[in-house]
Order: sequence, then C-alpha cells, then structure tokens
Amino acid sequence: MSNILDGKQIAKDIREELRKEVAELKEKTGRVPGLAVVLVGEDPASATYVRMKGKACEQAGFLSRTHRLSETTSQRELLDLVNELNEDDEIHGILVQLPLPDGLDDQEVLKAINPEKDVDGFHPLNVGRLMTGDPYFVPCTPRGVIELLDRGNVEIKGKKAVVVGRSNIVGKPAALLLLQRHATVTICHSRTQDLPGVVREADIVVAAVGRPEMVRGDWIKEGAVVIDVGVNRVGEKKLVGDVAFDEAKDVASLITPVPGGVGPMTIAMLLQNTLEAFKNHG
Ligand code: NDP
Repeated sequence: MSNILDGKQIAKDIREELRKEVAELKEKTGRVPGLAVVLVGEDPASATYVRMKGKACEQAGFLSRTHRLSETTSQRELLDLVNELNEDDEIHGILVQLPLPDGLDDQEVLKAINPEKDVDGFHPLNVGRLMTGDPYFVPCTPRGVIELLDRGNVEIKGKKAVVVGRSNIVGKPAALLLLQRHATVTICHSRTQDLPGVVREADIVVAAVGRPEMVRGDWIKEGAVVIDVGVNRVGEKKLVGDVAFDEAKDVASLITPVPGGVGPMTIAMLLQNTLEAFKNHG
C-alpha cells in the first residue's frame, strides 16, 4: 500500500464536501459565504495564489471578490478598504495577501480586520485564542497539517512531534495545534543544536523551513509520519519541499509529497474557515 499522504486528493474531497454544504445552505437561506481577497501590488507569486483562491471559491459556490490595489496604495486607502469589507454583509471572510509592498504596515492592516472575519487567523486576538487553547480561526496552512494527519488516521495524542521552523504563520501555530491535540511537541529553528538528532526522536515531523530538501532520509525514525510544508523553487520549474522526499519515503510510514501535499490543503482550509465565518454570522 502507498505511504503517500495525498494532499491534493484530500483537498479535493474537502472542497467537494464544502460545495455540497454551501449548496444546501443556499437552498435553505438564499445566501452563500463570501470571501474578499485583497492584493496590493504586482508580486507574481501573490497574484497566482490570489487567482487560485478565487477559483477555488467559485468552484465551491462561494461568493468571491478580489480587490486589486496598485503598488502605490497608501496605508490609509488599504485600511479604508478593510473597514468597508468589515461592514459588508455579503463578505464573511477577509484575506489580505501577504507580503505587502514596502512602506505598508502589515501588522496594522491585520489588526484592522474584524476578528470574526479573519479567516487567515492572523489577527492578534485569534493568535491569542490559539495560544490559550480556545482557537477561533486557525491559520490555514497549520490547520491543513492537522487535517492531513486526521484524514490519514494518524494518532496525534501522546506522540512525539517535532516542528522544524518557528514562524508565526506555520511553525508556531502548527506546534500549538499539535500541543492542543496532546502531542509532546519540540520546536526547532536555526539555532537548534543537533537538528538531525532531535528530528530522529519524532513520531511526527513537520518541516516548515524553506530550505530545499534539508531534512534528509536518515534524520527520520523508521515509521515516522512526515509532513512537508516547504515549497522551494529549484531551477526554472521544479518545486521541492524541505524534506528529501526520495530518501524519506523509504523510512516514513506516511509522507506528504511536494507539490500535492500541504499546499492544496491551505486553500481548502481557507474555504472551511470562510464557511465557518458564514455559519457563525450568516
Ligand atoms: P520563514 O522563513 O518565516 O521561517 C523559517 C523557519 O525555519 C524559521 O523559524 C527559521 O529559524 C527556520 N530555519 C531556517 N533555516 C534553518 C536551519 N538551517 N535549521 C533549522 N531551522 C531553520 O518561513 P515560513 O514558515 O513562512 O515558511 C516555511 C516554508 O513553508 C517555506 O518553504 C514556505 O514557502 C512554505 N510555506 C508553504 C505554505 C503552503 O501552503 N504549502 C504556506 C506557507 C509557507 P529562525 O526562526 O531561527 O530564523
């Protein structure tokens, strides 16, 4: 049997489940969840992500609105748009695509989003709620990591989990979610000593580093579950993760590929969060 945890297929299944639920809600209430995505500037990677999010929304029957603002947009104009969206009854989720162009204060913008529409889970209130074990909106990528483990029937409780990376958008929230599910969690970063030795202890490894194939096969304990969040472009076209997949797949009991692992789950979780925002405040 394959030991590949197929995020692409799982995300497709989730999106289909969401599509059905949204169709039923529309039938009952005449309304659908709405997501507004704000893109400032011309960053090509951000533009691609925003397009993918819009397309996924439409396919699932959500209302999707994309606001494209120029590179020269002022902080005031951006905040005014966020405030407008906060007041808009058709919009249940607001996502401001990061990174913002230089000169704009992303923290101030994230704080301006109504926490009840903060489907990216980056508002300090939502960050705090995750910290205290009472999550409201959880950032989409770490939520996708947990959903992958659940749909792969991986027991989390009591397991040793090692998260490599401590960013606010992936590493830290992934570690908190694993902790909330009763794993014993170690967080590693660039100053961790004997990283291979620490990773070798793990039943569950989450790699969120941004270094191509840094985690080698001989760092992985026989039978461990490996979730590779990394997306690294190598050469013109090729994408690889933070884990040396070809080495690790022979040792792991389950492993996510890149592409086709965590990436597609991020968008599925964004839709899930938006549907939840709708149900809370429809
Ligand atoms: P950041 O650059 O914000 O964080 C990277 C983390 O890795 C930091 O905590 C850093 O440590 C740590 N690190 C860097 N080098 C080493 C090293 N040699 N040994 C140990 N730890 C190291 O990245 P992100 O968390 O934003 O993203 C991580 C990866 O996940 C990237 O490849 C990104 O593209 C991908 N990603 C994928 C998403 C998806 O949807 N699939 C969504 C978001 C991100 P320190 O804190 O000490 O500097």
